[in-house]
Amino acid sequence: MAKSGRTYDVIIIGAGSVGVPAACFLGKAGLKTLVLDRYASVGQGANKAAIGGIRATHSDPAKIRIGLKSIEIFSTWQETHGDNIEWQTGGYTFAAYRQREEEILKGLLKIQQSYGLNIQWLNRDDLLRAVPALNPEGLVGGTLSPEDGNASPLLSLHAMYRHAMQNGAEFRFKETVTEIPVENGKVRGVKTDRGHYSAPVVLNAAGAHAQGISRLVGLDTPVVPDSHEGGVTEPVARFLEPMVVDIRPTDGSANYYFYQHHTGQIIFCITPDPPILGTDRHETSVFLPMVARRMVDIMPRLRNIKVRRTWRGLYPMSPDGAPIVGKMKEVDGFVQAVGMCGQGYMLGPGLATYLVKLILDDVDEEDREVFEVLSPYRRFAGVEKLK
Ligand SMILES: Cc1cc2nc3c(=O)[nH]c(=O)nc-3n(C[C@H](O)[C@H](O)[C@H](O)COP(=O)(O)OP(=O)(O)OC[C@H]3O[C@@H](n4cnc5c(N)ncnc54)[C@H](O)[C@@H]3O)c2cc1C
Repeated sequence: MAKSGRTYDVIIIGAGSVGVPAACFLGKAGLKTLVLDRYASVGQGANKAAIGGIRATHSDPAKIRIGLKSIEIFSTWQETHGDNIEWQTGGYTFAAYRQREEEILKGLLKIQQSYGLNIQWLNRDDLLRAVPALNPEGLVGGTLSPEDGNASPLLSLHAMYRHAMQNGAEFRFKETVTEIPVENGKVRGVKTDRGHYSAPVVLNAAGAHAQGISRLVGLDTPVVPDSHEGGVTEPVARFLEPMVVDIRPTDGSANYYFYQHHTGQIIFCITPDPPILGTDRHETSVFLPMVARRMVDIMPRLRNIKVRRTWRGLYPMSPDGAPIVGKMKEVDGFVQAVGMCGQGYMLGPGLATYLVKLILDDVDEEDREVFEVLSPYRRFAGVEKLK
């Protein structure tokens, strides 16, 4: 049990999608690690709101590399560590109903394949063979990346939590970080509403609240809480393999995505447009009519399925849709792993392996490329195409 006043190698703020796998891998690397969270157990921030999608199908090389590493970890977790995290290799399909989306998706294939991603463009008939329930009317084709998949956010986080503790990491819950003392430009540890802890390295993994943590050391990190809703239906007989993503923007929403859980339920999400910024986690009456119309349009057989429950959580949004990861030059020992947007669950374990190398100063040329893309000092000019 962690005690106030103790000294650690690393203190992680946030026991969420990023902080827990980071603790697991930092502990494994022999670093004395403490994780602090204001909630009563792991995964109670955005992690438990995630619908469980895990892909390496991204548009930037850093996220493709981290995604591939994450898939390796999630997909082998049960055989390596023994815990069933409900990993399912269902794949992802990005369907195109217009030339615009066809061009975006085809334009990304080369880079995706060059980073080792197993992804192909399927014409209309081949895509309908892979996903027969798609509405054929107007369908042009789409991508299929069969090695992507899904797993349970809570089961995987709890499994990684147990292994983090076996690896020597300590956790303290119901404890809010209120101060990060800095002396001569170096972090000294953290103070909470219940105690104080020392460490030369503090990792900001506070999700939607990352900006508030950065401000404790006088930094401004452009991460804002952005409300997103999800939902789950009743279970039905299995008919759908991959996660289906439709990136066509329409009035009120951008992309939406859904898949069939191995127990038969359809789990779904939509991206409101314009975004709904803020920390409100109450469900709205707008979400369901908006997402249901679009899902029935792309997959008419969903028209009679009953929705069991909806919920709302917070994406930690960065300005360009990519995570913000790196050591801060202004405050020695303060490290960011924030701005995960809609992908923190899938990126968490892969990112953890990179964070170990960053913290141990063991970064090679290939890792450096990843950190450059995710650098807190980048210009935030572009927007990731598959955010
Ligand atoms: C509806 C919905 C669907 C989603 N679907 C997916 C999906 O399919 N796949 C995917 O990869 N992602 C998905 N996401 C996004 C994903 O949930 C987030 O990107 C991810 O959980 C962020 O991880 P994180 O570790 O940065 O933050 P969190 O998991 O929120 O963890 C941050 C933790 O920091 C703690 N904290 C903050 N401030 C303090 C403080 N001062 N003191 C102590 N503790 C503090 C919080 O309590 C929290 O537990 C979805 C999100 C939503 C809302």
